[in-house]
Amino acid sequence: MTNLIDNVRAQLDELASRNLTRHRRTAETPCAPRQVVDGRDMLAFCSNDYLGLAAHPRVVAALREGASLYGAGSGASHLVSGHSRAHALLEERLAAFEAPHLESARALYFCTGYMANLAVLTGLGSAPDAMIFSEALNHASLIDGARLARAGVTVYPHGDVAALEEKLAASEAPTKIVVTDSVFSMDGDLAPLPQLLALCERHGAWLVVDDAHGFGVLGDRGRGALEHFGLRSPNLVYIGTLGKAAGVGGAFIAAHEDVIELMIQRARPYIYTTAAAPALAHALLASVDIIEGDEGEKRRADLRARIAQLDAGLRLERWQRPVSTTAIQPIIIGANDEAMAVAARLHEQGLWVPAIRPPTVAVGTARLRVTLSAAHTEQDVAQLITALNQLERTWA
Ligand code: PMP
Repeated sequence: MTNLIDNVRAQLDELASRNLTRHRRTAETPCAPRQVVDGRDMLAFCSNDYLGLAAHPRVVAALREGASLYGAGSGASHLVSGHSRAHALLEERLAAFEAPHLESARALYFCTGYMANLAVLTGLGSAPDAMIFSEALNHASLIDGARLARAGVTVYPHGDVAALEEKLAASEAPTKIVVTDSVFSMDGDLAPLPQLLALCERHGAWLVVDDAHGFGVLGDRGRGALEHFGLRSPNLVYIGTLGKAAGVGGAFIAAHEDVIELMIQRARPYIYTTAAAPALAHALLASVDIIEGDEGEKRRADLRARIAQLDAGLRLERWQRPVSTTAIQPIIIGANDEAMAVAARLHEQGLWVPAIRPPTVAVGTARLRVTLSAAHTEQDVAQLITALNQLERTWA
C-alpha cells in the first residue's frame, strides 16, 4: 500500500515541481459576473456563460418546472428506458434550429460535450479503414475521441488549409473525417470553415465541427458557426454544447438523420450511460427560445460591445494578445509561474481570471484566459482593463 501511495505522491510532486498543480475554487452563488467565491466577493471573467443564461430567471423556472413534470433523474440510459418526452422535444427543437445548414437534419442530445465528441469520432470512425484528420489545437475531448476510435489519425497544423489538402489528397482511406473546433477554446480564433468545407466536399470527407464556443453566440439567430459563415452541406456533422452559451448542460450532435441513427446504434458514449435529467432538457427548451429570439439578439449585441471595449481599452506591451474577435480573449504571459503570479495579483484585487498552463496550452504559452459575457456591464470590463493595464506596467 505504501508503495502504491508513494507512486501517486511522486506524480503529484512532479506536477508541483513544474508549477502545474491545479486548484479548484468554490462558488457559493449562481454563475454570474458577481459571485461569492470561497467566501469572497469576486468579479469573474472565467465562465463560458457567454449570454448570461446560467442564472436567467426563465431558464431557472423551466428547470424547476421540468423537475416537477419529469422528476429528478432519468432512471436509465436512453435505449433502455431513460429517454423522455423532454429529451425528444429538445432534439426536435435543435434539429429544426440547425436545419438551415444540414441535409435531412436530426439531432441527438448528450449528457456532455465531451461525450458527444467521443461519440461522433468513435461512431463515424468505426467505419473500416477510416482516417481522422484532426486540427492541431482541437479540444481534449476531440483528441480523446480520435484516440478511442479504431481509425488512423493524422494531425494538421493550426488553421493550415493547404497542409490539410495535401493530407487529404494523399489519403486513400474510404472514410475521411476532418474534425475541428470552430472557435478555439484557448485562443478564441475561428477555424476557416468555408475553406475546410470546400476541401471536404472536394475530397468526399466529413467535416465535423465542434461549435462548443459558437452555439448561441455566433450567427444572427445564435445558430452558431454554420450560420455565421452561411454554410450548408450534407458533409457537415455539427456538435453544439449546451453548458456554455445555453447556460444549462449537455450537448447535441446535429447531422443527416442516418448519421444520427448510426450514433444511436453504435456510439458507446451514447448507449452506455444514464440519460441526463429530463429537467435539463426541459430547461434547455427555454434557453433555445431565448437564444433564437430578440432577447438573444440583444444579448449577442451586448457581448460584442464588451469584446470591442476590451479590445480598445487594453494597452499591453509585453504580454501578447493573439487576434480574437470572440468572447475568449487570451493574454499570453509565457512562463507558468508568471501566469500564476499575475492571476494571483488580479485575485487579490477581487478579479477572477484563470491562468491556463500546459498541457492545456503549449509549453511557454501559459496565459490568462479572459472570457466575456453579455452579463458583464461596461463598468465590469472597465475595471478589468484598468487592472490589467496597471499590472503589466508595474510587472517586474
Ligand atoms: N469542445 C470544446 C471546444 C470545449 O471547449 C469543451 C468544454 N470546455 C467541450 C467540447 C466539452 O464540452 P462539455 O463541457 O459540455 O463536456
